Amino acid sequence: MISAKGVREIKSDIREPRFCPKCGCSYTEHPALSRVDNEALICTDCSTREALDAIGVSTEEQEKIISIIHRNYAE
Ligand SMILES: [Zn+2]
Repeated sequence: MISAKGVREIKSDIREPRFCPKCGCSYTEHPALSRVDNEALICTDCSTREALDAIGVSTEEQEKIISIIHRNYAE
C-alpha cells in the first residue's frame, strides 16, 4: 500500500514540461519564481537573466553567461 506522501513523491518525480511565459520555451527543470512580479513561474534561463539583469549585466553578456552555463551542464 502506498501512503499519500508516497504518491506525492512519485508525482513530483514526473517532470511534465512547463511553458515559460517569458521566452515561450518548454522546460522540465524545476520552475523559478520570477523576480519581476513574484508570481510567474519561469525557466531557469530566464531566472538567470533576471538575476543578471538585476545586477546590471547587459543582455549580450547575459546570453554569454547562459551559454557558458549550458556548456557546463552538457558535460
Ligand atoms: Zn524562459
